[in-house]
Amino acid sequence: MTSTPDTYERLCEFVRETALLESIEALLGWDERTYLPPAGGEYRAEQITYLSGRIHKRRTDPRLKDWLDELAASDLMADPHSDPATTVRQLRRDFDKRSKLPQRLVEELARASVLGQQVWVEARAADNYRMFEPLLKQMFALKREQAEAYGYAEHCYDALLDDYEPDATTAEVKAALAGVREELVPLVQAIGESHKQAPVELLKRKFPVAAQEAFGKEAAAKIGFNFKRGRLDVTHHPFCSGMGPHDCRLTTRYDETFFPSGFFSILHEAGHGMYDQGQRPDQFGLPPGSYVSLGIHESQSRMWENLVGRSRAFWDYFYSRAQIAFPQALGDVPAAQFLFAINDVRPSLIRVEADEATYNLHIIVRFELEQALLCGDLSTADLPGAWKDKYDEYLGIRPPSDADGCLQDVHWSAGLIGYFPTYTLGNIYASQFFAAAEKELGGLHEPFAQGDFAGLLAWLRRQIHQRGQCYTAGELCEKVTGKPLAHTELIAHLRGKFGELYALK
Ligand code: ZN
Repeated sequence: MTSTPDTYERLCEFVRETALLESIEALLGWDERTYLPPAGGEYRAEQITYLSGRIHKRRTDPRLKDWLDELAASDLMADPHSDPATTVRQLRRDFDKRSKLPQRLVEELARASVLGQQVWVEARAADNYRMFEPLLKQMFALKREQAEAYGYAEHCYDALLDDYEPDATTAEVKAALAGVREELVPLVQAIGESHKQAPVELLKRKFPVAAQEAFGKEAAAKIGFNFKRGRLDVTHHPFCSGMGPHDCRLTTRYDETFFPSGFFSILHEAGHGMYDQGQRPDQFGLPPGSYVSLGIHESQSRMWENLVGRSRAFWDYFYSRAQIAFPQALGDVPAAQFLFAINDVRPSLIRVEADEATYNLHIIVRFELEQALLCGDLSTADLPGAWKDKYDEYLGIRPPSDADGCLQDVHWSAGLIGYFPTYTLGNIYASQFFAAAEKELGGLHEPFAQGDFAGLLAWLRRQIHQRGQCYTAGELCEKVTGKPLAHTELIAHLRGKFGELYALK
């Protein structure tokens, strides 16, 4: 007979060992996307597949169920937001979800995702949707099956959304995103009709890569990313990967003739990285030391990238430094011109190149279409037309091809359905958190203009990072901002900033 504290210790020890394997897998994955020589890819895939198998086995180990059953009835659960209760609740959630999927479905999904991505690459290059359509159709059928296996209260999309944004419902996300869309479509239209035009050409001058790297690192360190506990490397598609309590890897890419590409992706990934670095090292691998949801993770990256990094106050401090770093490109450019250029808004076809405002409309298109595809309201055969119609309606442009239309993202081919809305949820949460921080800290413009970002970071650490998964995203939002998820602050921010830049009425 063991006592409850013994069982809890045993559970944590087991989960920490799984986290050890997961962090090794993350390190292999980071290396694969940064330094791995091309010929090493095949063996690397074997290493990763081996580890994933071991990890999956551990996360569905029947001993977990016994321990969790015993602990669920114990007084460790008295305070639902305590470390032990959070650990038991979240591990139970993970275990139950994983156990609901039949092995056959797990394998079929893995296969469909690998094949789907391969065919997607070819189909996109050839601008040939018909080549990809049968795989997409199969993927949505499998995801429907997955949703049924998980079960859901209202909408089959709920079940898939839960993988990325736990405890969020389709209904609430729909309401928030519809609110954004209704306000944003006319705002983007008004910006397009403004007589003012952002001088984007100046960002296409020559910005030497070495100077970009030095300047980007200086900025990341200044806002609070700790380079003793992390580093920055180069990759094709920037990402951030935490692989230990004191080891967080940022990646970016540099374009010598387009400044924002490298710089803002560094700020974005540093925002993710500071969330990782702000979590409790003693809880690494356990729910109280883990991120809440993709939406909350994205709120941190978007806040530092957009609300801080594209603000006037930020450049009040950094612009003279940028002029020293890039004398040829920026020496003759007034700060106001530069600020307007990095805040250019214009409808475009490609999501990953979109600006702060129109980006959300790209997401809303995908969110609406993937729900319709999942529920059978739209057939995969009709997707290209539906995609073009929505771009027309929300952004006022019609993609001339599918390569620049419904074939542009990897997500659906990889089975990531229910993932897209977390990007816009991130923007909404970011604005709500930022407004709450400004209110509590009494304005952030002044400290930012002095190069002081520590107040905001300390606030985020206390309010969000250190809380791990002790609250759901919805609870956290209410606790930190006093309000549930709502689009009001995001729209107020966009209206305020772009209204001024574009001299809107
Ligand atoms: Zn991100």
